[in-house]
Amino acid sequence: MNVLVTGGAGFIGANLCRELLERPEVDRVVALDDLSTGRADNLDGTGAELVEGSILDAAVLARLVADADAVVHLAARPSVPRSLADPVASHDVNATGTIRVLEACRRETVHVVAASSSSVYGSVTSLPKHEGLPTRPLSPYGASKLAAEAYVLAYGASFGLPSLAFRFFNVYGPLQPAGHAYAAVVPTFVDAAMRGEPLLVHGDGHQTRDFTFVGTVTWVLADAVLRRVTSDEPVNLAFGTRMSVLELTRRLSGVLGTPVEVRHGPPRAGDVRDSQAADERLRRLFPGATAVPLEEGLRRTVAWF
Ligand code: NAD
Repeated sequence: MNVLVTGGAGFIGANLCRELLERPEVDRVVALDDLSTGRADNLDGTGAELVEGSILDAAVLARLVADADAVVHLAARPSVPRSLADPVASHDVNATGTIRVLEACRRETVHVVAASSSSVYGSVTSLPKHEGLPTRPLSPYGASKLAAEAYVLAYGASFGLPSLAFRFFNVYGPLQPAGHAYAAVVPTFVDAAMRGEPLLVHGDGHQTRDFTFVGTVTWVLADAVLRRVTSDEPVNLAFGTRMSVLELTRRLSGVLGTPVEVRHGPPRAGDVRDSQAADERLRRLFPGATAVPLEEGLRRTVAWF
């Protein structure tokens, strides 16, 4: 089996390339990535082939999709703050880029598994967030991921394209970069704690997130590809573990075996207050999926740093 992973040199993408090539059914993995946030050396030792190019390039996509039995579409301009800085750039890659990927898949009738985001729920306050709730994005990023997800579902409905759109929650783990303005909370905290610096919490720290270890996410993605799982509804990819950001600092302190200092800054625009996935649909479609517990995931993340 040949699999094309868009955004394959990124954090989740490179972890997925490794996971796919460990499966006996998979012969070849090609990563299409423009290296805007991904890194070529993330793929070192995975056996995946990197094609440096953009999902906005229809000719490159057509060539690569023609050789693929399945596509996992992860390429995106991620992060809420990045989308606040340049909403149109986020739309171009996340929404227009997705329809380009879908067009290429439609021509070849190739199964596509795509990444949406919990940010599509936005200001919806009821918990846990189940897929039947309305979507009210709070950021251009959330809006662009909702557009992407809507296109995936529409291509399934309109053209019978075998497809699946996952809503990822807060994914963390090895290869997730720290030390830049748009870094995610787990690597930012691990990096600061390991340098003995204070952990900067935006707002009061009682905001909650559903943290998912990247190995759990890549296991589910690989299972979706190998079993050709499709769904005409979006599927949350998280297991309903709701944790405050302050509690995360305590758990990290426990894993490191050292106290950590917490400092508070202003809350960030566009951030949702609470996040927790309903996982019934995920568990129904992926009965073999098990979540790596947070402490274990944090240990593996710390070991990578
Ligand atoms: P990432 O930035 O590490 O990966 C995105 C990859 O896409 C990068 O390698 C980047 O270089 C590549 N890319 C960007 N624009 C491209 C283009 N035009 N053509 C080709 N490649 C391009 O981020 P990630 O955390 O691995 O995210 C992967 C996917 O998961 C994204 O779709 C993101 O929106 C989604 N997601 C991630 C999280 C999370 O917690 N990490 C949460 C929700 C959704």
